[in-house]
Amino acid sequence: MPAFTELLSHATTAAAKAYAPYSKYQVGCALITSQGRIYTGCNVENASYGLTICAERGTIFHAVAEEGPGMKIAELAVVALGAEFPPCGACRQVIAEFAAAETPVWFLRDGKPVCLTMAELLPASFRL
Ligand code: ZN
Repeated sequence: MPAFTELLSHATTAAAKAYAPYSKYQVGCALITSQGRIYTGCNVENASYGLTICAERGTIFHAVAEEGPGMKIAELAVVALGAEFPPCGACRQVIAEFAAAETPVWFLRDGKPVCLTMAELLPASFRL
């Protein structure tokens, strides 16, 4: 099974568990780390909108909690149920922290999977 197909399946399962009573957009993310482990996450909204966390960041933070600060993203996919979103700007910066320039990031556009490298998704990302 192609990695994206597997990631899409995991992300879709995670999206169904999203807590999205405000936006109604259920978003899921799945990533494979350099260690070959898969992690998933979904968006979790809050009545105080600023506390909402996107699916991508929730997934990455879980992966770091499991693998430690050396966690590296080998590939990542994000999907929304009934909608299509690429990662938001905040998530792009967080993905970049744990990805290489060539790391594939998948999302859907017009019903088809789109793959951009991290460098294409966030050129000139902030680095210390
Ligand atoms: Zn986001």
